[in-house]
Amino acid sequence: MEYDRCKNCDGEVTADSDFCPHCGVLFKGIGTLRCDTHAQRISAGVCVICRKVVCIECSKVVHGRTLCLDHKKIEIQQDWALAFQSTEIGDSELVKAVLESEGFHIQVQNFNSVGFVWDGGGDSPISRSNISKPAKVFVPIPEYLEAIDVIEDWNTSKTTEEAEH
Ligand SMILES: [Zn+2]
Ligand SMILES: [Zn+2]
Ligand SMILES: [Zn+2]
Repeated sequence: MEYDRCKNCDGEVTADSDFCPHCGVLFKGIGTLRCDTHAQRISAGVCVICRKVVCIECSKVVHGRTLCLDHKKIEIQQDWALAFQSTEIGDSELVKAVLESEGFHIQVQNFNSVGFVWDGGGDSPISRSNISKPAKVFVPIPEYLEAIDVIEDWNTSKTTEEAEH
């Protein structure tokens, strides 16, 4: 596989890429490729989250990255997208464990709080709700949509379990 550098963001891309997966800039079809929503409009780029081809009206560039209107609010740091956050670190710890067991790559933020005791059992981690900084779980941008599905499934099964008690 041959690699190249994106001229827009300097991210590493395969030489035959049609667009940059890091920033959403088009390499091919510039000026001819159409927006997925507006067949009349020339595309401005590709949403880095869902890979939808978007025109200027259907997209927002956030920190140099193209995002569609559905995904423009997702917090992104470097090549990582925020999949889950909670001021209850126990919740974030559980989501992290769920995603890890499904083979996702994880980065976390604000996890090393002072005074937090993790008993490892998963039953009743001591809440740190008085600390307002949310514990954040990030996944690589290409894994984001799948990670969100996994979290949703986990949430649903959790809610069902709780209802049965
Ligand atoms: Zn790029
Ligand atoms: Zn999108
Ligand atoms: Zn459009």
